[in-house]
Amino acid sequence: MAALPLINSERLREHHFCLAAIGATARGGIDRQALTDADTEARGLVVSWAKRRGFALSCDAIGNLFIRRAGVSEGEAAVATGSHLDSQPGGGNFDGVYGVLAGLEVLESLEDAGVATRRPVEVAIWTNEEGSRFSPTTMGSGVYSGAYPLARALESTDGQGVSVAAALGRMRQRLPPCPSRPLGVAPHVYVEAHIEQGPVLEAMGATIGVVTGIQGLRQYRVNVIGREAHAGTTPLRVRSDAFVAARRIAAEAEALATTEGDEARFTIGRFEVLPGTPNTVPGKVTMTIDLRHPDEAALDRIETAVQHLCSTCAAPCVASMETTLAAPPVHFSETITHVVKEVAESLGFRTKAMISGATHDAGFVSRLCPAGMIFIPCRAGVSHNAEEHAEWADMFAGARVLASVLLRLADANEISPPEQTAPAKELK
Ligand SMILES: [Zn+2]
Repeated sequence: MAALPLINSERLREHHFCLAAIGATARGGIDRQALTDADTEARGLVVSWAKRRGFALSCDAIGNLFIRRAGVSEGEAAVATGSHLDSQPGGGNFDGVYGVLAGLEVLESLEDAGVATRRPVEVAIWTNEEGSRFSPTTMGSGVYSGAYPLARALESTDGQGVSVAAALGRMRQRLPPCPSRPLGVAPHVYVEAHIEQGPVLEAMGATIGVVTGIQGLRQYRVNVIGREAHAGTTPLRVRSDAFVAARRIAAEAEALATTEGDEARFTIGRFEVLPGTPNTVPGKVTMTIDLRHPDEAALDRIETAVQHLCSTCAAPCVASMETTLAAPPVHFSETITHVVKEVAESLGFRTKAMISGATHDAGFVSRLCPAGMIFIPCRAGVSHNAEEHAEWADMFAGARVLASVLLRLADANEISPPEQTAPAKELK
């Protein structure tokens, strides 16, 4: 195996600050939603860094961008890493951007050290991971892996009616021309570095999370239909108040989720009461449910129980529930998790095997090739928040581990392919 590349921590730090300035908010975080001018500017900057080093660039139909350092054996599939540059509207400076910069740092460090790898090494910048401007989340990797239809993704619109296709067109106009590449080209392996976005590593004093999988995610839309009425003249006993019924369903559903243990996650993130005037009894409520669990059977049980609640608990209103997103739990390659653990421990870092609570692009890429993730701690587990913070030492540690893992895999022989998983059902 070739010598371990040395990460240039000053360069990683400088790149971090340059990107933190793009879309910076007064609270110290960033607002760099997918395919906005800020997202475009961030990409442009990373592209300029990649070009300066002579790395090859390519871009696919959904706007995923790939930065490639050539291998000795160019015909072989690349060893890949990457993440995303887009953020939530109130996002922090580490979610996604860390994985892109750590990946770029690996390429630059290999270049500095003059290390030749058998396989090419590639960094992917996935489009619209966050899903806050355009639905669904992890759009770029979902389309790339074949889980989401391209045409449907391109039609998705933001709150102003701007489509992904139009926003992509605007972005392309503002960036230097980039050779295109087809969707679905499978890397040899994919390993993504990311902040944990949870409190586990920090609490344990571990530096590297060896991510064994991603919990399953389902999202639903629940509609509760009642009857609008005058707030002053309609006695309580004759009302069909959609808010009252929806509140009951919400409370019971949350209680149900807690019966599936500490691993269950249940969130009602949107609760819309219509017509929304102070003096009208609500005639309609629409709420979303975001449900997560590492165990598919537990997700099935909660879903069935909530469906049952909708049919039994809404009277005199009527409630219905539809699935808008269903992503099964992901199990990462054991070969990759083994390599990550071994490399991290050989470098002297304390590791912790863990399941990711958040969805990541690596989940979809794992349908194409053996995949895994490297987590680093983030302060108090806070993420999707301007307060998001990771320590420099941990960022450098993660980049060093990523470099050694990619280097080892770039020269390794065959790795067993991923097990077939059910295709994602993105229904609405
Ligand atoms: Zn992320």
